Amino acid sequence: MIVVMKTGAAREEIDEVTRTIESHDLHAFLSAGEERTVIGVVGSDVERVAHVASMPGVEQVIRVTKPYKLASREHHPDRTRVRVGNVEIGSGRELVVMAGPCSVESREQLQRTAHWVKREGATVVRGGAYKPRTSPYSFQGLGLPALEMLAEQREQTGLPVVSEVTDPGQVELFERYVDILQVGARNMHNFVLLRAVGQSRKPVLLKRGLSATIEEWLMAAEYVLSSGNSNVILCERGIRTFEPLTRNTLDISAVPLLRELTHLPIVIDPSHGTGQRSLVRPMALAAAAAGADGLIIEVHPDPPRARSDPDQSLSFEEFGDLMDDLRRLEFLRVPGAAAEPATADGAGSVEELRTRIDEVDSEIAALLKERTRLALDVARARGTDVHGHDVARERELVDRATRGDTGAMTTEELGIVFSAILRASRSAQRRQAAAGLVPSSGPRPVGTDPAAPAPAVAEPQR
Ligand code: PEP
Ligand code: MN
Repeated sequence: MIVVMKTGAAREEIDEVTRTIESHDLHAFLSAGEERTVIGVVGSDVERVAHVASMPGVEQVIRVTKPYKLASREHHPDRTRVRVGNVEIGSGRELVVMAGPCSVESREQLQRTAHWVKREGATVVRGGAYKPRTSPYSFQGLGLPALEMLAEQREQTGLPVVSEVTDPGQVELFERYVDILQVGARNMHNFVLLRAVGQSRKPVLLKRGLSATIEEWLMAAEYVLSSGNSNVILCERGIRTFEPLTRNTLDISAVPLLRELTHLPIVIDPSHGTGQRSLVRPMALAAAAAGADGLIIEVHPDPPRARSDPDQSLSFEEFGDLMDDLRRLEFLRVPGAAAEPATADGAGSVEELRTRIDEVDSEIAALLKERTRLALDVARARGTDVHGHDVARERELVDRATRGDTGAMTTEELGIVFSAILRASRSAQRRQAAAGLVPSSGPRPVGTDPAAPAPAVAEPQR
């Protein structure tokens, strides 16, 4: 049952309603919204206090038919924003990206990853210290030393850290080292653990159970909320279905559905949700488009060598590409130019360097136009050739461009650029051929080439 107080209800009126509820051995959860205060009543047979509807300051009493009460939108019409350090999850303004290794493996591995993900724009670092593994023979996590390393990275990067707590007895220890307590999918139904994290002041990232319905998941959240912790973040991480080609089936529809049902922020984990590196980026983008408040992504300096979840961990480069896409699509804010420091070595300010890059880009564009014009001339001069690109010449061109000093680019990167230029030239030639300027076979029809001289004989008059 929800007791909705009138706008501007007096403090004493709110206190009186609360006292009445508690005198019946029921719990009263206050939620002060922007406009009015709402009191959630939980316990058995809440109808015993239905009479508070006529108390001073009370606007109405709403019966919540859903089994989850405190997690419901009725209880808390405004969306909950969970604050961790400088990060706000559920603000509705920006996507929060949490990233880091599946497991903390060493100080160096965590340090490199944490610094990299921060550089790319992540604002929370993840890392497993106690790993819930299917096999007792698999790597179980470094335990306490991993928590110490996480706390050290929090100091170094200034970013909050999240790690999974697997045992109610660990909660106090975790409170000393991490900023967000993660309850893993395998523990979503561990009610003792849910109550234990519910008594903590730290925010809780509650993962959906492997085969939990959305309602069961919200009931798990209700355990945490009703134990006194209102900072719950829901995390969809895929559920077990009959589909064997992905590790789990990532339920992105959970995002808009939960928006209707609950006020709690929603984070998507496309790493565990798919189990495959190549699927992480598209599903992360889909989650952002569906309105998720955040993403949690596994990143490793050398994914094939990761001690847990190597197949789904992104390399640094792959993570960078994902973050670029999120920025391009404006799910992430582009850092302001004012925040960027000028270069220390006298090479010029960021602004000056960018101006120079713009100039170089214009030169490249002009050169590409000139190159394409020449390629079209070649096609025209070649005339009736079938489609005859000189493949050997093209290969030689790419070889030449990537030989010797390639500057800051790798051979592979330069190869990609030149292959793309060649492909664009070939497309232009084909377009020209298709437009009839260069017939793909047979003699060129008279008058189809604007560059050709006018026909010597005038067309007969009609
Ligand atoms: C994890 O995030 O490290 C993890 C084990 O995830 P899940 O509980 O979703 O399997
Ligand atoms: Mn993992």
